[in-house]
Amino acid sequence: MHSPHLLLRFGVISAILVAGLGLTAGLALARSIRTRTIADAVRSAEVLADVGIRPFVSPADVLGDFVPLTPNRQAELDNSLGKSLSANAIVRLKLWNRQHWLVYSDKAELRGRWFPADDVLNKAFTGRTESNVTDLSKPEELEERDFGRLLSVYVPLRVDAKRTSFTSDQNATVVGAFEIYLPYQPVADSIRSDTLGLYKTLGAGLVVLYLGLFRLMQSASRQLRRQAAQNEHQALHDALTQLPNRSLLRYSIDQSIAQAKRNGTVVSVLLLDMDRFKEINDSLGHQLGDQLLVKIGERLQQRVRTADSTARLGGDEFAIVLADLAHAADATLVAEDLLALFEQPFEVGTVMVDVRPSIGIASFPDDGANADTLLRHADVAMYAAKHAHTGAEAYSFDADHYRPERLDLAADIRRAIAADELVLFYQPKLDIATRRITGCEALVRWQHPYRGLLAPGEFMPVIETTELVKPLTLHLLDQAMRFARDVRIAGHEIHVAVNLSARNTVDLRLPEQVAEIMSRYQLPCEVLELELTESAVLENPKRARDVLEALAALGVAISVDDFGTGYASISYLTQLPISSLKIDRSFIHDVTTNPKSAAVVSFSVALATSLGLTVVAEGVEEPETLLELERLGCHQVQGYLISKPVPAAEFMALLNQPHYSTRIAVKATP
Ligand code: C2E
Ligand code: CA
Ligand code: CA
Repeated sequence: MHSPHLLLRFGVISAILVAGLGLTAGLALARSIRTRTIADAVRSAEVLADVGIRPFVSPADVLGDFVPLTPNRQAELDNSLGKSLSANAIVRLKLWNRQHWLVYSDKAELRGRWFPADDVLNKAFTGRTESNVTDLSKPEELEERDFGRLLSVYVPLRVDAKRTSFTSDQNATVVGAFEIYLPYQPVADSIRSDTLGLYKTLGAGLVVLYLGLFRLMQSASRQLRRQAAQNEHQALHDALTQLPNRSLLRYSIDQSIAQAKRNGTVVSVLLLDMDRFKEINDSLGHQLGDQLLVKIGERLQQRVRTADSTARLGGDEFAIVLADLAHAADATLVAEDLLALFEQPFEVGTVMVDVRPSIGIASFPDDGANADTLLRHADVAMYAAKHAHTGAEAYSFDADHYRPERLDLAADIRRAIAADELVLFYQPKLDIATRRITGCEALVRWQHPYRGLLAPGEFMPVIETTELVKPLTLHLLDQAMRFARDVRIAGHEIHVAVNLSARNTVDLRLPEQVAEIMSRYQLPCEVLELELTESAVLENPKRARDVLEALAALGVAISVDDFGTGYASISYLTQLPISSLKIDRSFIHDVTTNPKSAAVVSFSVALATSLGLTVVAEGVEEPETLLELERLGCHQVQGYLISKPVPAAEFMALLNQPHYSTRIAVKATP
């Protein structure tokens, strides 16, 4: 952070300011100490003159014509003043008259001498006590040089109206002046000690002020730093769980990668997404749902080595970074441990909740060299795990529907819908008993402007992982029902089947949208059949049931696609409003040669018959297969034997062939 730097700068600047303040205040105060001390000394000199000198002098001494005074008077003054001068530490006394004659001095040589008046003496004659600190450079001071620096004080002498005695009356006439020389040293000493005392107090005061300021700044800066750290924490952590968020996770992945490059180790990113969390969240309510997420975060952290490597990416998605692994396979072991953590239910509020994640793993260096790529690939792997119900999957390039060229497709598809590039081909379903076409399945193709006709396998897997599949399905339903109406107008009564994706089967708005399309083309809902796979239903059975029941209530037929390839129990068959089963192509193509496939088919037929469902066989290519399926009790067949999926117009032509059933029979004859 910048704060220590800032503090230093503040320290220096405020030190300079405080020192400057101290200097100016110190100088001003020292000057006033000096002035005051000198003024005090002058005042005491004045008092001294009043009580120690003036009483011995008479106005006649300065007013008279005797310059110097008569020897008698001089001797008198020497006698009377001598004691007083030495007792009061007066170094020299001069008595001036107005004509600046020195009428008397304790120094005999000076008596009776005349000097030109200087400013100070003239001022004293105007009535003011004057002083100066003298270096004794004046000619009249020659004699005092032995005494060092002196304070000379001029005290005016005033006489009363009768001119017979001195007076202190400020308005009286000045007739002369005393000049008293006092040693300056005691004054200087007093100034020095006072000034020193001042500097000490001032210095101490300023130091205290400075320290106070510094501490204030220090605590302010500490507070700022703490605030900044808090802001940073908020920016990098998830508010609910306090775990690192995506930004911090990306940073720590990149850090770990840099370290792994130096150490030649592996970094794995594990992406966890809770299965059916939305359903759990809906039934728990938001508050408990949040609590559950916090507990999940806590449980994950217990398993992981360092705090920063577990993150919440939002919603029910968590991520874990495993740094410095020896092998990418170690991550799979950790993932299994993590899955085991979820075998215990979570206690939220008063309920115990079972929740399990699907985990996707992507590792540096094999699956990516930066955080974004690893996260994206872990996401792909996580979807694969979710889809296959395997718990955890490591990323595999081949299974990645998110590769950039595929992602481009997802963006392209929006435009394709608008440009009507997605067209339906129709493949007939033949009723075995009557050898007549009783229905068809609509299969999407993309008439791509550059790539030509694309099969659904090339774009549907990407789209099915996005919300885009909803508008796409509606678009195709509309197209299929327009076709169904045309077929009816042409005089044929057949069902038209449309395929649904997993996201469609949990879309609560779908039944209403279907009803709207049916009424748009004035078709009875019985014309429409919807095909969906077991796994699509099983991802969220409760929601799927609501949606399917609403559709069935409209009269729409529901068939289970790719029957036999799912992993789950088949109990859902009794709980959902299903009207037919489409046995997967993988059991049909070798039904004549493989007894196991034949067993699956006959089991499916038995099951369907007892549940009152229609059985459709997919991928019938050979006449023999048709005969075998007939023998096993299948109701309908679909496959290249009858026709490949064809454009709408061609399908019409197919319907209009008069002896369709005959053609099959002929083909089947060896
Ligand atoms: P699906 O629903 O199982 O569709 C049957 C697939 O088997 C079609 O492939 C069809 O062309 C192919 N097929 C039909 N008879 C034979 C045969 O005798 N031999 C062989 N080998 N194949 C046969 P297609 O058209 O490539 O579609 C693949 C899958 O794409 C579909 O499997 C379906 O899951 C999905 N799909 C197709 N159209 C749509 C659609 O409009 N919406 C959704 N959600 N999925 C669609
Ligand atoms: Ca189908
Ligand atoms: Ca199928």
